[in-house]
Amino acid sequence: MSRLVMKFGGTSVGNAAAISALAAITREQLHTWQQVVVVVSAMSGVTDMLLNGAHSAASGDQTSYKEIGARLREKHAAALAELVPNAAAAVATSTAIEQLIDEFELLCHSVGVLGEASPRAIDAISSLGERMSVRLVAAALNAHGTRAEAIDATEIVVTTPHFGTAVPLQPHTREHTRARLLPLLEHGVVPVVTGFIGATEHGATTTLGRGGSDYSGAIVGAALDADEVAIYTDVDGVMTTDPRLSPDARVIPTISFAEMGELAYFGAKVLHPRTIRPVVEHGIPLRIRNTFNPAHPGTLVVSEPVANGRPIKAVTTIKSMSMITVEGRGMIGVPGVAARTFGAVASVGANVLMISQASSEQSICFVIPQNVSAAVVKALEEGLASELARRDVDRIAPRESVVIVTAVGAGMRETPGVASQVFSALAEQKINVIAIAQGSSECSISVVVSSADADAAVRAIHALTI
Ligand code: ASP
Ligand code: MG
Repeated sequence: MSRLVMKFGGTSVGNAAAISALAAITREQLHTWQQVVVVVSAMSGVTDMLLNGAHSAASGDQTSYKEIGARLREKHAAALAELVPNAAAAVATSTAIEQLIDEFELLCHSVGVLGEASPRAIDAISSLGERMSVRLVAAALNAHGTRAEAIDATEIVVTTPHFGTAVPLQPHTREHTRARLLPLLEHGVVPVVTGFIGATEHGATTTLGRGGSDYSGAIVGAALDADEVAIYTDVDGVMTTDPRLSPDARVIPTISFAEMGELAYFGAKVLHPRTIRPVVEHGIPLRIRNTFNPAHPGTLVVSEPVANGRPIKAVTTIKSMSMITVEGRGMIGVPGVAARTFGAVASVGANVLMISQASSEQSICFVIPQNVSAAVVKALEEGLASELARRDVDRIAPRESVVIVTAVGAGMRETPGVASQVFSALAEQKINVIAIAQGSSECSISVVVSSADADAAVRAIHALTI
């Protein structure tokens, strides 16, 4: 029995043309795979519209959500009319979508009366986009002659009650998913499942976080022991770097889960590492593909690294960073300075993206987003006040406008000299490296450079991938 789970993102269901492409891909894949499940996002822009409606209602605006409701009706009705031209065949779907928009307006009205949108209300409202898109997509598939049924993941994905950031619970999710979907699959029906959403054990609707439909695809794939999970998006796959920075950027044919994790973490927002976990743990291959270029094989993500003769596979950047250096001779051999430093950083909720400390222990430096830099420096000055007074710490120095450039590739683990290739390439372009870090997984090397040097640094390192 071969089983494929395909997830389609917002742009892949963004209008009737995209949904027709989805339907053609589904029909095509049914020639190769015996069973196919489709997981979809809301039509692009819809989740934002729903959230804007909820927030404006909470702030006392009783008209915006009605305008949004009208636009949602129009958007879905236009797509449905094109996908299912036979009005009689479309009526059940159109009624169901209308009811969901009525529900949106009712929920926004209640939020307006309360003057507050609780996380639970926000999830009930933001879940509606996927609940509409599955109905639209299932109707389109049926009209194309592929038997399909819309499924709300509230029936199958059981989550913690953390509204907005819910996490699926096992074994319930696996049991419910299999009980609901396997009978459909056995009867040759394609289940079209909402991404992004789930429900608590008590049935309250939850969401998995923005962009969570990828995660849903992986959860369903794992629960069904799928043979492959395909994430359909609007690019051909994971690129060696941003093609705007380097014209010779290419799609990476095969990448390991660990490399992919580094890439996602370091800003190549293709997939969140959390998304990947359910499929990694089950050893299920994951493929990233383009809805609008279905002939392209995409990028295959596998559990073990595959050597391609190049230790570096990709280069990414994280921009608009600040590097903070805490410096002082008195720090040598004094325990607790690092703990107090990062305690102060954590106290303002800043996320640290990179840390480096030389073994001389005379300084610690770390990189944080630029917009929290002032708050972090202030917290450090307070948290390290006694060290500063004793001159154990001499200086807390922020350096603004820096960029983290990361070279990713599991091949560097066995290959000596990769770091030297990276630094020689940067030196040849006369790029000054401000700080360096290598994760102990040896799957990536990161350097901090000034923002003026960032693009040249990417191009210099990218040349090593070719
Ligand atoms: N519709 C949700 C969002 O916009 C989930 C997703 O698209 O993955 O965040
Ligand atoms: Mg998305």
